[in-house]
Amino acid sequence: MLKDEDRIFTNLYGMHERTLEGAKKRGHWDGTAGILQKGRDWIIEEMKASGLRGRGGAGFPTGLKWSFMPKESDGRPAYLVVNADESEPGTCKDREIMRHDPHTLIEGCLIASFAMNAHACYIYIRGEYIREREALQAAIDECYENGLLGANAAGSGWDFDLYLHHGAGAYICGEETALLESLEGKKGMPRMKPPFPAGAGLYGCPTTVNNVESIAVVPTILRRGASWFSSFGRQNNAGTKVFAISGHVNHPCVVEEEMSIPFRELIDRHCGGIRGGWGNLKAVIPGGSSVPVLRAEAMDDAIMDFDWLREQKSGLGTAAVIVMDQSVDMIKAIWRLAKFYKHESCGQCTPCREGTGWMMRVMERLVKGEASVEEIDMLFEVTKQVEGHTICALGDAAAWPIQGLIRNFRDEIEDRIRGRGAAIAAE
Ligand code: SF4
Repeated sequence: MLKDEDRIFTNLYGMHERTLEGAKKRGHWDGTAGILQKGRDWIIEEMKASGLRGRGGAGFPTGLKWSFMPKESDGRPAYLVVNADESEPGTCKDREIMRHDPHTLIEGCLIASFAMNAHACYIYIRGEYIREREALQAAIDECYENGLLGANAAGSGWDFDLYLHHGAGAYICGEETALLESLEGKKGMPRMKPPFPAGAGLYGCPTTVNNVESIAVVPTILRRGASWFSSFGRQNNAGTKVFAISGHVNHPCVVEEEMSIPFRELIDRHCGGIRGGWGNLKAVIPGGSSVPVLRAEAMDDAIMDFDWLREQKSGLGTAAVIVMDQSVDMIKAIWRLAKFYKHESCGQCTPCREGTGWMMRVMERLVKGEASVEEIDMLFEVTKQVEGHTICALGDAAAWPIQGLIRNFRDEIEDRIRGRGAAIAAE
């Protein structure tokens, strides 16, 4: 279990002042110029050694990602873009960081931008996050007033500007290249890759896009050391992690814990257990709506990290843990996600545009028990035609929950079709 003194986010619940003064009392903005003086190479190597993997869902090593940026400027400016478009169903961890601990994110933006030779950073915040935008903007204003941003930021000799950009509520703008399009004032549609953003990103310039949590942990890692951070979790799954736990637990919450914490410990310690007791647990989506759902039995010995969950054909994703008890109609729950992805598809590639509609419609008939048993395999085949055949990962995200349902709850689907289960009309 993570001890209080090892928590990076010391104000996750808003119990303390989120102002600059409050943040400084909790250790933020301490020796920031000194960290920058250690140089870009040192920062990037330290981030690599920390083992931090991106906290937005993909889990790509953060230090390695930074090292893809050009070491020397070729005349084009470089940019850091922070993806704060947190829209994955079940996910609300970055919201708490921006609401209550904005200074650790801002300090992280300065340090990370310096490491990548960027004099400017954009934070792209989800359209619905109005209060979070206000909190973040107030903190940015405070930093400019106190010399922590702008010319000679924090006395480091580095000129640095930070801009907050408000999205308009499209899920697809959380995809990094759609986000860049939107930031440029265009319709938020994913770009073909390559080129990758490190080569040609925002306005065609070298750009790195990182998640809020990935950047907000940077100052503490560099102050306390890579070995401190990597001492938490298992090999290849290092650090502390913010989990957002929702659904049928007694006390849903957002909590920072040690990576690789056992699922049972996470739920018992922070959520007061499962509603109705552990015997009432039916299923868990362990990492936001894009990863496959697992049966309760699979969660008995579950370790909450990238590698363990991947071995179970699921994933840690955004670490949004959605807990479902026996009252849940699994087919209907996954149909609801299928409907979401169909709605959010940007429509520019055929497998996703057409496939999400097909998958949603077959799911709708499965909910009603109106499909035939043969259609279960046909639906699985459709998900395989979508998976890996699209411009961006939304196609995979739409396919995987259905694959998880068919793999793990086929009995429930067949019962419904054969009339043994309740045929519940889709709303
Ligand atoms: Fe758009 Fe879907 Fe293609 Fe992504 S996969 S580019 S959301 S149509």
